[in-house]
Amino acid sequence: MTLLLQVVRLSQHFPVSGPLFGPKRVVHAVDEVDLAIERGEALGLIGESGSGKTTLGRTILQLYPPSGGRIMFEDVDVTGARGATLRQLHRRMQMIFQNPYSAVNRRKNIGEIISEPLRVHGVRNAAARTRELMELVGLPAAFVSRYPHEVSGGQLQRVGIARALALEPDFIIADEPTASLDISVRAQVINLLAHLRERLGLTLLFISHDLSIVSYLCERVAVMYLGKIVEIGPKADLEQQPLHPYTRALLSAIPRPNPRERRLQSAPLGEIPSAVERPSGCHYHPRCPLAMAVCKVDYPQLELKAMGRWVACHAVESAK
Ligand code: SF4
Repeated sequence: MTLLLQVVRLSQHFPVSGPLFGPKRVVHAVDEVDLAIERGEALGLIGESGSGKTTLGRTILQLYPPSGGRIMFEDVDVTGARGATLRQLHRRMQMIFQNPYSAVNRRKNIGEIISEPLRVHGVRNAAARTRELMELVGLPAAFVSRYPHEVSGGQLQRVGIARALALEPDFIIADEPTASLDISVRAQVINLLAHLRERLGLTLLFISHDLSIVSYLCERVAVMYLGKIVEIGPKADLEQQPLHPYTRALLSAIPRPNPRERRLQSAPLGEIPSAVERPSGCHYHPRCPLAMAVCKVDYPQLELKAMGRWVACHAVESAK
């Protein structure tokens, strides 16, 4: 396999207003993240709301310019791409948004929404390609003249997927694409994504707070907490033997079919802290049942702790 995307120490810090004469306050939404995704791979990114997953996805696409670090696409440094270069990059990298209703222009019909990127990039035969895309995502041809309010949430998310695929991208970031849908249609959309991934050979970064969906679609999983990756590894290993206490807590929060099944540990304690005033040292220490004195002063680096497993935790022994 070849590397398609790599981010190196990627950061996204937003200044926020604070007291007039006080220190400047900053939201560390994404903080020195390292990630690499092979061509054809599906990497899941999980974490609670407020962990920085969506901001990381948007920063990779450079919908916001990064505050620091590098983005490499096919070994080319594309950090800071602008204008025509960024437009060309967006042919190759696309995003499926969480809420299909807020991601589309409701005054345009389905055909216009799907064909918009084709027209922006001057693609010929936009009408034929639009019909092809609608068929690909399972939308009836008659929907071409319907408006967003005339279709269901699941159908509108199919429109979002068709639009994201219009320019035949290599890399898709799917940001909780089923979170705003009825539970009854979630499985259909997930199955569609799995089918499209296989048929089109897509590389996927799938963002979700739901590990069960991520494990259905992805080969590897990265866990994010307060702007940092705290564990990354093959899905099966991470599910069977989570190493970071936060991963263990996330896994234990998943409802089990058998309520008597023993949980590894209780769900994360309390609320995720603010990304403006992150706890010192390991940011997870106020919620961590294994916290030690060192955890309050020293942030643990992401290190190889077992075959293919990178973990940021003082309590997990390094690979020999
Ligand atoms: Fe818990 Fe310390 Fe590991 Fe952080 S470094 S997860 S506080 S044991």
